[in-house]
Amino acid sequence: MNQLFRETWIEVNLDAIKKNIQSIRRHIPKQTKIMAVVKANAYGHGSVGVARHALEYGATSLAVAILEEGIVLRKAGIVAPILVLGFTPLSRVKEAIAWNIELSAFQADWIKKADKIIKSTAFTNRLNIHINIDTGMGRLGVRTKSALLSVVTALTSSSSLAWTGIFTHFSTADEPDHTLTKAQHELFVQYLRYLKERGFELPTVHMCNTAATIAFPEYSADMIRLGIGMYGLYPSAYIRQLNRVKLVPALSLKSRFSYVKTMLTPPFTISYGATYIAKRGEVIGTVPIGYADGYSRALSNRGFVLYQGRRLPIAGRVTMDQMMVSLGEGSGKQGDEVVIYGKQGNREIPVDEIAEMLGTINYEVVATLSNRIPRLFLEKGVVVEISHLLPEG
Ligand SMILES: *Cc1c(COP(=O)(O)O)cnc(C)c1O
Repeated sequence: MNQLFRETWIEVNLDAIKKNIQSIRRHIPKQTKIMAVVKANAYGHGSVGVARHALEYGATSLAVAILEEGIVLRKAGIVAPILVLGFTPLSRVKEAIAWNIELSAFQADWIKKADKIIKSTAFTNRLNIHINIDTGMGRLGVRTKSALLSVVTALTSSSSLAWTGIFTHFSTADEPDHTLTKAQHELFVQYLRYLKERGFELPTVHMCNTAATIAFPEYSADMIRLGIGMYGLYPSAYIRQLNRVKLVPALSLKSRFSYVKTMLTPPFTISYGATYIAKRGEVIGTVPIGYADGYSRALSNRGFVLYQGRRLPIAGRVTMDQMMVSLGEGSGKQGDEVVIYGKQGNREIPVDEIAEMLGTINYEVVATLSNRIPRLFLEKGVVVEISHLLPEG
């Protein structure tokens, strides 16, 4: 740990990721494959480390949101299939083929232009395409059967593209009301049937995110797209309460006091805006993390950290790179460890609790952790890999 430039770090418990993948694996049909969703730096956990280990633990492919994220994985030497879930501009199609990364598409015109672009290159491999169908997410995807037919026709008549997947995405699979999810599934099945009736042989069919996988394992099809559950977080309180799959959070966020002082003489003001006035004799610890690290400024005077088995409240505003906490009349010293998210002894600050305080979801709390924080990957408590801002750091 001495090699850290600043003593704030994320620990990613790979054994938890392994357990989560195995728990999901037991919940779905044997033949269903697992695509590990590692977009947004693996939901803040560190994409290369997570991707590499998820493949080792049983995932057979990876998904990212944007092509650039896929290229990062390829540059790290990952050879498994990688699918881009979002929209890729035609200007980037050459990079997709160069790096052998699969793209999502839903427009015949895009398919035809992509075909031309690839034909103009020297690449001999095909660009793999998964067709996205909008059954109620309203984000990206084919919206009519006739549009689907033109996309599939363009795709199957191309010699430079290959049709490797077809998918949809649920908008409410994490909610107790199943009406829309069932309607989305039914619509998706109708689209698939429509293609089969026209003689098309379907490629890999997939629709389930974590919530749908847990609530509707019967929708698992050829492959599931496992995101938040792999990281040990539930997509919603409802999905947790179903009590079907046990998930173990993989991420902890930790730091060490960069300074501890007893407030004996003025000034007693703490941080910007002087919103916190320490009492005479109060002990204040400085923690080197701030909102630029993804620790929300909205936690000013509200959040807390764990230190020696107790919760210390944040004193004053969270600044860009640092914040202060109150040790009250307790004592502490520079270099002592604090836990910001995760467990310390038998106490815990769950990411879910922070999300609730912030009026958001656990996804956002972890996905916004910045790349300034080093990620330490642990197996059986031993650090096996570190990712730093400086690759050689
Ligand atoms: C992010 C995403 C997923 C993963 O969702 P989780 O809820 O994290 O499991 C799956 N599919 C698509 C299209 C996504 O954008």
